[in-house]
Amino acid sequence: MTEGWIKAKVINRKMLTDNIIELTIETYTEVKVVPGQWALFTFEDEQWPFQRCYSIVDQDTDNERTMLIFSIKLLDDGRWSASIKNIHIGSEVTIKWVFGTFVVQNTQLPKVFIWTGIGVAPLLNMAKYCTTKKQLFFSVSYKNDLFYEDRIKKIHDLDANIYLSREDISGYPSWTYIPWRMDIDKEHFDPDTEFYLCWKPEIVEDIVWKLTLLWYKRIYSEKY
Ligand SMILES: Cc1cc2nc3c(=O)[nH]c(=O)nc-3n(C[C@H](O)[C@H](O)[C@H](O)COP(=O)(O)OP(=O)(O)OC[C@H]3O[C@@H](n4cnc5c(N)ncnc54)[C@H](O)[C@@H]3O)c2cc1C
Repeated sequence: MTEGWIKAKVINRKMLTDNIIELTIETYTEVKVVPGQWALFTFEDEQWPFQRCYSIVDQDTDNERTMLIFSIKLLDDGRWSASIKNIHIGSEVTIKWVFGTFVVQNTQLPKVFIWTGIGVAPLLNMAKYCTTKKQLFFSVSYKNDLFYEDRIKKIHDLDANIYLSREDISGYPSWTYIPWRMDIDKEHFDPDTEFYLCWKPEIVEDIVWKLTLLWYKRIYSEKY
């Protein structure tokens, strides 16, 4: 094992939806995390060692051990997605480092967090610990694709807008979900608002383009 790498034990593993798994690990030494950062995991399968980045959903340090939570989308033909089937509670995992510059700006300006699907991970962490005026826009297709609703609701003073673009929402109270696709360019924000986006490159680029056309200047994004 290379010196300096972070060893950890898996302490929880559960499915959040049909294809998103939540992994909770506990390191043996304290790890400092700035909300928005990611961990570089190193793993080995029958071919050779390989590495993957995963954003940290939340963290907590107690007694010099740090608990880190990750949410990971399982891909049918993904290499890590296949390897994760061999990771169980009690398994040991290795992280090379915790890193990332996609973090909340240290300002008092209003913040808007926009994500779809698995882009939730860094933004949920940022939204939880940010103390300015904050809004969230989260979009998935169906109610079954929705996860972390409980975590979203627990974030203090967060104005949360949850879109279910293809679900029939007539059976739900009117304040819970918004139908159809998220149209961020129809919303009105303070001109100094900071926007934080995370998800697939094509989706992020489309939203950045719409916001830029509306003359918003403070747009920060992570694509994966
Ligand atoms: C900073 C950062 C943070 C991230 N955070 C998260 C996170 O919080 N949650 C999360 O789920 N993901 C996250 N990711 C993405 C993650 O690192 C992995 O890329 C993702 O999980 C896929 O890994 P995999 O090994 O399962 O799939 P891979 O084996 O890497 O495959 C990925 C895709 O490429 C295709 N592919 C593989 N090999 C080939 C080939 N030879 N030819 C053509 N296509 C091929 C596969 O079909 C698959 O669709 C993050 C990425 C970055 C950069």
